[in-house]
Amino acid sequence: MTTASQTAWPEGVIARYVTIAGTADGGRTAVELTETGLRDSEWAHTTIAKCTGCHEEQREGWQTTVYYFSGTEGERTVREAAELAEFRSREWAQAHAAKCRAMARPESD
Ligand SMILES: [Zn+2]
Repeated sequence: MTTASQTAWPEGVIARYVTIAGTADGGRTAVELTETGLRDSEWAHTTIAKCTGCHEEQREGWQTTVYYFSGTEGERTVREAAELAEFRSREWAQAHAAKCRAMARPESD
């Protein structure tokens, strides 16, 4: 029997949230988080959470500019911005996984 822990993670996936539908297919249907670039680069990238069932996705850009209530601006590092985007993406993934019933299309081998 296949369990969710035995499902191989696709290349580049940093987190998986098995959806309701995924609990019925061994964890294959899930919201998967990926990043469009490296955290130790000088450029800010995007964290993408995408559901393999319904294909809905959420994109969180890595915002290196911080806006304070005082009206001034500051900066955070690319790594800090990526961590914040990951946090927001995980929240979206958790909420989506808890309600999505779309099943991933069976793969033809
Ligand atoms: Zn979905």
